[in-house]
Parts: sequence; structure tokens; C-alpha cells
Amino acid sequence: MSEPRQVTGWVSNVKILGKIAFIEVIDDLSLTPITIVVKKETNSELWELVSKVKLGSALKIEGKEPQQVVSKKGRELHAEEVQILAEPQDLLPIDVTGKTPASFDDYINYRYLALRLPKIRAVFVARSIIFQEVRNFLTSRGFLEVNTPKIVKAGAEGGATLFSVDYFGEKAFLAQSPQLYKQMLMCGVPRVFEVGPFFRAEKFSTTRHLNEGWGLDVEMGFINDVNDVLSLLEELVTHVNKRLVESMGDQLKSLGFNIIEDMKQFPRVTYDEALKILNSNGFDLKWGEDFDPKAEKFLGEYFQQQGTPAYFITEYPWDSKPFYIMRNGPQKSYAFDLDIRGIEIASGGQREHRYSELYRNLVDKGLDPNDFKFYLDAFKYGMPPHGGFGLGLDRLVMVLLGLQNIREAVLFPRDRFRLVP
Ligand code: ATP
Ligand code: MG
Repeated sequence: MSEPRQVTGWVSNVKILGKIAFIEVIDDLSLTPITIVVKKETNSELWELVSKVKLGSALKIEGKEPQQVVSKKGRELHAEEVQILAEPQDLLPIDVTGKTPASFDDYINYRYLALRLPKIRAVFVARSIIFQEVRNFLTSRGFLEVNTPKIVKAGAEGGATLFSVDYFGEKAFLAQSPQLYKQMLMCGVPRVFEVGPFFRAEKFSTTRHLNEGWGLDVEMGFINDVNDVLSLLEELVTHVNKRLVESMGDQLKSLGFNIIEDMKQFPRVTYDEALKILNSNGFDLKWGEDFDPKAEKFLGEYFQQQGTPAYFITEYPWDSKPFYIMRNGPQKSYAFDLDIRGIEIASGGQREHRYSELYRNLVDKGLDPNDFKFYLDAFKYGMPPHGGFGLGLDRLVMVLLGLQNIREAVLFPRDRFRLVP
């Protein structure tokens, strides 16, 4: 037996076999319960207490780890003292043993209880690793982590999809993206990133859209061309996935997650090439149209068959992209998307850094340059060539874990029908 140690957690299963009580407790951030063992012949008082303990109770246990573990789940503690800190007052709305599945909505409504289930807890442990590794990678590459306002006067791409707020009598909006701010910063810092919330007011009904999400925004100055941005994003996603697989890949697999064990180099196809692939496979898309979810899904399967779940689509038509993107000839642009498993994860590109071209782009998109004066001014004082991307972190969690619905990747998702809890 080892030195005594303390375990705190919640009872997820109770088994009494003859005169031995086995209480499974989900402790710390572990993804398998620890089995608390109490033998009647060693301590009959304690045995009486634990054999009546209610499923879902919060416990504090003192005990010793045995030399030989007999429980199948691998961790065991022979209890010497057990304190029942709290017992359920009501019927548990979720079966914490995990035997009877709850409804999709109840896993969200009672998220705190669902987090005791290894399969749901694993999503949020993975999410935390993904967020940490994003920060580790970018910080190690000399990016400054910044925070930009979430209550703003102007949107990045027009006003149609913004939530409005009353700002002391003035109309303001919840930020849809840090786009304008991160670009302005390029006139004073060479590389920045931000991890923050974004808000979109569209009435989505899909499995990959939320009304409040968490995004990663990256902007890098002094680039040679858009390929610098593509390479950084590829290295970032590969790093994050590799660290995720190293730290919990085996556990994720045994819990049934369809993870991406090995990320090969991301193919880079142009919009024109992607269009050709689609139209030679039964689609009838015109040049200039954005790819709809059906087309995205098809491309996802097409690249999956080649063993590359992640791929870039580059050189989008300028008409389909926002004003701040740099043109590439009369019709194309230096905009790209990163798709993984047929779902758009990031959009980015090289930006227009020349004042007069940027001004013209705004006018060409039908926007009023006067509304963007605070932003345009930054382009007058030595703005270097720059580029970057916006990446949906909730979507990244979703695709790296192979989840079917983005709501599974968010603790308390915000969609059209969900404002509580
Ligand atoms: P989509 O075409 O899928 O609606 P988008 O092109 O409008 O996305 P961007 O403006 O390019 O989105 O935003 C950058 C990234 O943020 C997207 O690639 C995506 O990963 C994520 N994202 C955008 N909108 C949402 C949303 N409503 N819910 C969750 N993630 C989103
Ligand atoms: Mg996009």
C-alpha cells in the first residue's frame, strides 16, 4: 500500500459484491473513474456508510492505493475515511453511470452533470488542450496576443448580420470579427493573434453555425505573399492536432471519437481547380459562385479518399470576398479557405495594404469610406504588406474530434433557440 491520499469527486456507480463495496468516483479531470474499495471485514462502519451512498453524491475520500489493482478500469483506492459532502436532492436528469443515454438537449441543459460522463468531459478537456496549444504555437512564433473591442461601431462586412446594442443612446454592434482592429495593429506590431468571442445575428439552422462563437484571429505583417499565411496556418493546425493526439489520442479513440491520427501536408487547390473537380462530378456551378455545403461536403470526401482531410482552396473570385482582400488580377483575389472534413474552418488571405487601392475596394463593394475612416487612417503611416485568417475554434474542436454537431463542442451554445442556460 502507498502513502495515504485524498480523492474528491462524484459517485458515478455503486456496486456491492458480497461484503465488498465498489464505489466509482469521477475525480479531477480524469476520463475514467477511480474505484473506491471498502471491505466490511476491515471497517464495517465505513462499509455501512458507503454501501448506502447515493449515485451522484459529492465525496471526499482518504485512502491508499493498493499494490495490485483488481478493478478493470485501472485505478483503485482502499478507503479509510469517506465524507459525503453533498447528496442529490432530486432525481438525476442524466444517468451518471452512462448506461442510459439522455437527449441531445438534456446534455446541454444539464451540462454540469453531463461533464461527469467521460465522453462529454473528454470533449472539453480536448477543447482546453486545443486552445492552449494555439496559444503556445503562436507565442513561440513571436505573435503578440491581443484583445480588441467586442462592442463596435462598424462591422467588417456590412451591417446585415450584426446584433445591435444600445450604447448610451448610440447604436452599436456586437463584433462579428476583429478584422479591422487586427489589421490596424499591423501598423505598429508585426504579428498579432486574438482568441475571442464573435457574434453573428443570422437565423442559422445548421450543425456548424452558432450565434456566438470563439474565434482565433491571426494577422502577420511583412509577408512575402499569401503563401506565408497558408504555411503558418498549416503548421498551426498540424501542431495543435499532433499535441492533441499525443496527450489524449488513445483515450479519445477508446471513447469512440473519430480523430485524425496523422495530418499529411494540406493540398492547395485553386478555386478554379476545385470548381473543375466539382463540375466533372455532377455539379453545375458557375464561376464566381461560392461553394454550398453540398459542394463542400463532396470536396471533403474527395480529399479524404486521398488521405488528406485538410486542404486549402485558394484564389477565390474577388466578388465573393470582402473589400479588405487584395485583388489578384481583375477577377480573382488572394483569399483562401481552409476546409477540414468538408467543413470550412478558416478564411484568410493577403490584405490590401495600399491606401488608394483599399479605398477603391471599399467603393467597389458599395461601402462608404467615411464609415471606415478610423481604419483607413492606419494605412497612411507605413502599413506593411500583411495577411492573416479568422478560424472558428468551435469548428476546429468539432472536426478534430469528429463531432456531428458544433453544439457538442460548446458548453452552453448560443443558437436561435437557445439563450438559457
Ligand atoms: P460560413 O460560410 O461557414 O458561414 P463564413 O465564411 O461566413 O462561414 P468567416 O467570416 O470566414 O465565416 O469566419 C471565419 C471562420 O469563423 C469560419 O471559417 C468559421 O470557421 C467560423 N465561423 C464563422 N461563422 C460561424 C458561425 N456562425 N458559427 C461558428 N463558427 C463560425
Ligand atoms: Mg469564410
